[in-house]
Amino acid sequence: MSIVHTLKKVVDPARAREEQAEQEKRQQERRQQGAAEPELYHCRVCGREVAQGGYCPDCLSDTMRPGPAPPELSGGGGGG
Ligand SMILES: [Zn+2]
Repeated sequence: MSIVHTLKKVVDPARAREEQAEQEKRQQERRQQGAAEPELYHCRVCGREVAQGGYCPDCLSDTMRPGPAPPELSGGGGGG
């Protein structure tokens, strides 16, 4: 829990509770709608992500695996 959120709770508990309820509601709605997300595949060699499996366009070999590329392959920066 962040300091800001804690402060908010102390200063205005009713509002904080409302915001939290609103967030949970939105998450539930998104979960119900987001059933049709496009399937993502990644190359286990170079980390390239594509919307469908099969052959990697870079490696030209059958290296695609389901799911997004892991951080060590996609080379994500340290920013947050
Ligand atoms: Zn590849």
